[in-house]
Amino acid sequence: MTIVGLGVPLPRPPHAGAPSDVPTDGPLRDTFGRVAKDLRVSVTDRCNLRCAYCMPAEGLDWMPTDQVLTTDELVRVLTVAVRDLGIERIRFTGGEPLLRRDLDEIIAAVAALPESPEIAMTTNGLGLPRRVDGLVAAGLDRINVSLDTIDRARFAAITRRDRLDDVLDGLAAARAAGLNPVKVNAVVPERADLAGVPDLLAFCLEHGYELRIIEQMPLDADHAWQRAQMVTADEILATLRTRFTLLSDPVPRGSAPAATWLVDEHHGPSGPARVGVIASVTRPFCGDCDRTRLTADGSLRNCLFATSETDLRSALRTLPDDEIDAAVAELWRGSMWAKAAGHGVNTEGFRQPTRPMSAIGG
Ligand code: SAM
Ligand code: SF4
Repeated sequence: MTIVGLGVPLPRPPHAGAPSDVPTDGPLRDTFGRVAKDLRVSVTDRCNLRCAYCMPAEGLDWMPTDQVLTTDELVRVLTVAVRDLGIERIRFTGGEPLLRRDLDEIIAAVAALPESPEIAMTTNGLGLPRRVDGLVAAGLDRINVSLDTIDRARFAAITRRDRLDDVLDGLAAARAAGLNPVKVNAVVPERADLAGVPDLLAFCLEHGYELRIIEQMPLDADHAWQRAQMVTADEILATLRTRFTLLSDPVPRGSAPAATWLVDEHHGPSGPARVGVIASVTRPFCGDCDRTRLTADGSLRNCLFATSETDLRSALRTLPDDEIDAAVAELWRGSMWAKAAGHGVNTEGFRQPTRPMSAIGG
C-alpha cells in the first residue's frame, strides 16, 4: 500500500509522551514522529541583492559581526549535528552565503566528517565563477541558484540590481565545475510575472538546469505579503502547461519540498527533464518535513515560521569546553521536540515571524 502525505502530520502517537519528555539521546525527533535529517544553515544575513519579496531597498540592520558564529563555532555545531544528531544533509544559505569568505573552510570541515553528509548551497550566484571550483574541491555536492526571470529589465526591477549576466555566469560556472543537477530557484513575485515563467523553463531546459518554482511565503521583511496577491502553484502549473506537456513523475517525492513533473520530450544532463513546484502555502508538506534550521547568529529554529528560537551561541560562548557538545545536542533535541504540527499560514490568527527570510535562511 502506498501512503500519500496529505501535508499535515499524523496525529501525535500515544507513545510520544508529553512535550516535556524530550529525548536525551538519538536523532532529532518531534512529538509527531518526524525525524529531522536535513539542516539549513544561514551563514550570514547580508546580501548583495535586494529582492523585493525578501528585503527592503535599503537593506536591513545587519547582525553585528560579533554575534555571528565564527568559523570554529559553526564547525563545532555542525559536527554535533552530523555526529550525534543524525543530520544527513546540510544546505548552506543566507542572506547570500558566498559573502562568507570562510565558506570553503566550513564546507571542507563538514565534508571531512566520517559520516559524509550531503552538502548543498542555495545562492544568488553572484561571484560564483570565482568561488565554485574551491567550493567543489572543499566538498560541495549540490547547488541551487536563484533566478526569477530571464528578462533583464524585470530581473533588475525585482532584485533592484542590474546583475542578470552575473547570475547567468554563475549558473554556467556551476555546470562547468561539474555540479549536477544545477537547480534554479524561482519565485513569481507578481501575477504579471506568470507570462515569463515558460520562458524561464525554456531557458533552463536549453541549458540543462532543473527549475524549481517556489510559492511566495509571508517571510518578507516589509510584511507586505498578502494571500490574495500571491501567485499559486495551480496558476504556475496552468501557465507552464500552455507551452509544455507535464507528465507525472514516477520518482516518489519523499520529504522533498518540491512536487515534480517530467517535461515531455525534453532531456537533461542525466535523464528526462524535470520541473518542480514548491507549494508551501497552498499545499503544505509539513507532515513530511524533516528540516531543522540554524541562523547565522546561532539560533535554532524548528520551522521557517517558528515564532520562538533556541539560543546555541550562549552555550558555545559561556560553557566549559568539555560541556559544550552535550549542551548543544540537548538544546537541539529540545528545539525539535517543540516543533509544531504545521506552519499555520492558512489558519486564522497566523502571525508572520519577526525574522525575515534573509535572516532565517531559505
Ligand atoms: N541569497 C540566496 C538566494 O537568493 O538564493 C540564499 C538565500 S534566499 C533567502 C533562499 C531562497 O529563498 C531563494 O531562492 C529565494 O528566492 C527564496 N525566497 C526569499 N524570500 C522568499 C519568500 N518570501 N517566499 C519564498 N521564497 C523566498
Ligand atoms: Fe538576497 Fe537571496 Fe533575499 Fe534575494 S532572496 S535579497 S538574493 S537573500
